[in-house]
Parts: sequence; C-alpha cells; structure tokens
Amino acid sequence: MKSVCYDKFKCIAGKCSMTCCEGWEIERSDSPRCMEMLDEYYNKDFTEEEELKMLWEKDIMRCPLLTSDGLCSLVIRHSDEALSKACRVFPRNIYKNKEGEKNYDLSFGCPEVVDLYNKEKNGYPLIDDSLSATAMGRCAMSIFHTDSMPLDIRMLAIYLYLNDELEEEEGEDNLRDNLSEKSFTISEYLNLAAETVMGDEPFEDFKSLNSSFLNLIVNYSTLPIMKPYLDEIYLKLDEADVSFDILHKMFLKFQVFKEDFDEKLEDNPLIKSVFEAKLFEALEHAEDVYEMEQNFEAVLYEFAFLRYAIFANAYIYATYPDYDTIRALITCMSRMIGHNEESFFDFISEEPELISVLR
Ligand code: SF4
Repeated sequence: MKSVCYDKFKCIAGKCSMTCCEGWEIERSDSPRCMEMLDEYYNKDFTEEEELKMLWEKDIMRCPLLTSDGLCSLVIRHSDEALSKACRVFPRNIYKNKEGEKNYDLSFGCPEVVDLYNKEKNGYPLIDDSLSATAMGRCAMSIFHTDSMPLDIRMLAIYLYLNDELEEEEGEDNLRDNLSEKSFTISEYLNLAAETVMGDEPFEDFKSLNSSFLNLIVNYSTLPIMKPYLDEIYLKLDEADVSFDILHKMFLKFQVFKEDFDEKLEDNPLIKSVFEAKLFEALEHAEDVYEMEQNFEAVLYEFAFLRYAIFANAYIYATYPDYDTIRALITCMSRMIGHNEESFFDFISEEPELISVLR
C-alpha cells in the first residue's frame, strides 16, 4: 500500500517553514562526509558518541551544518549522496506489515507533507481489503469511517474494540464477557464509546488533560523552531494550571469547542485525513494485537493533544487558528510523539488514564 501523496513529495529545503534539521532528536549520522564536516566545523576530532551529542543534544537542537538560509552545507559541498540515511529518507516512512508487504508512507513531522495531504484530501487510495487482510484492521477502519458519529467517539470506539480483542486473545475478561455478549457490532462499540466520553467528573478530566499536555510540551516550547507555536500556549496553560478560576473558564469553553471540533470535521478534512493516515499506520505497523493496541493508544493521545493545542490557540488569540498554524501544530505534535516513540511510551505510562485526557 502506498499513500497517494508518497510519490509527489519533494523537499522544499530553504523554503520550508519548519525545517527538519532543527528542534527534535534525529538518529546519529552514518555518513563519513558528514562526520568530516562536523570535525571541521568544531575544529576537533570527535568520537562517535560525542558527535551524536554535538548534533542533536545541544540546547537548540539544531544541526550545525544547516545554513542560515535553510540549506544543508553537506549537500551544497558534496551533493545529496553524502547525506546520512536518516536525512535522505525523511519524511518517507517505509515499513513492512506482518505479511511482509512493504508500505510507503510519509511523516507529518514535515509541513510539506501536511500540505500534500491537504491538497489530496484523501491521502490513501480507498482503504480496501488489502489492509492486512485482517478482520480487525477492516473493523477498525470501518469504525473510523462511520461519519455519522463525532470523531472523538469513533476514535475511542476503535480503542475499546482493540482493547477487547487484546484481552480476548490474552484470555482475560473483556467488555463482551462482562456484558455476556459473544460479539459486539460496530454500532455497539460506538454507543459504548459515546457513554464513556461523557465521564463523571469532566472538570477533573480537563485538569488532567491540561497538566498532561503541559508535561508533553515543557521541553519543546522554548526551542526556537517550535517557540512561535508553543511558547505562548505553554505560558497561558501553565498559568491556568495553578488558578482555579482561569482553568474553570477554559474548561467551559473547551466543552463547546470540542463538540464543534469533533462534530464538524467536514469543515476540516485535513484533521480527518491526518488521523486516517495515522490509524492506518498504527494498524499496519503492528506485529500483533498487543502492538496494534499500543500503537493506537499513541495515536489517540496525539489526537487529544492536537485538539487541545488547537483549542488553546483559539482561546488565547480569540479566533480559530488559520491553516498555517494548524499545519505547524500538526507538525509539532508529530515530531514530539511520532519520532521518539520510546520516550513517548515512557511519558504516557506516567500520565493519567488515556480516557481522562480524551474527554
Ligand atoms: S521538513 Fe520536509 S520540506 Fe522541510 S526541510 Fe525537512 S524534508 Fe524538507
């Protein structure tokens, strides 16, 4: 399976609004030419370990070989051939599904990819029976495409479904057992999700969402590349975190916003397209049910955080963010979550129940 955007991608380098050579962790260079240029740049021979630090663990996390006009000194001097694998491949994402077939995808950590999906509206050819040929994959995608329900409910219904399948496989009690049902239909999962998103203590859930989101962005909000989109949000949400009055005011506004956001996605097909692609990857990338469920959990967190970032922006600036801001927020979230999966899974293991940040 190949995303229809895949072959259309072309890096715009110096014209990029959010270069990928800055602001996140990237694998160490495996290019001898790159190593040479770094030694030259710092006027010192480094060990491989040190080179890793020099490149990506500096405070600003900016590649020293990036020129002030957004071009790569390595490419200028030696051509694309000298690039390391990570730089050559990004934002392409090629992986094998469990049948051993290759999938070709693009990362939303690149704003140009977001633009491509926005133009295409539907980044994938219709998801058909080729989806791992698994009933689970097809069922999850069918829930996603049940347009009559708001997106948050569909997303949660997929999570409940995958969780149920996982517990069934592990021989544990699951929802179906508890309700003495042999199987659930898609609409039953959707109904269950709709009940679950209501929550008994919505304000407490909102507090959890606010503090989890702050924990996620705290190390990124001051990086120069993300600062214009996250710093103001961070400061305001941090202030709300310690003030009941501000947080409560935001909570009331968020209830209205999220209803609108989740129900009126036809006004914003980009968000739907992004999460369709992410869901597809979460399912296809997984070796087994456990991985499917785990991958999808990360997608759900990303959905909850992106929605909250868009809300925070709308709240602070008193207007719904424009396309460029939404694109930047999608890019920021993808970089924070999608490309440092290990630390993201560590992060969510310390956060409150997923359900409380989704509500
Ligand atoms: S983020 Fe995308 S468009 Fe921008 S420099 Fe990187 S690969 Fe090129």
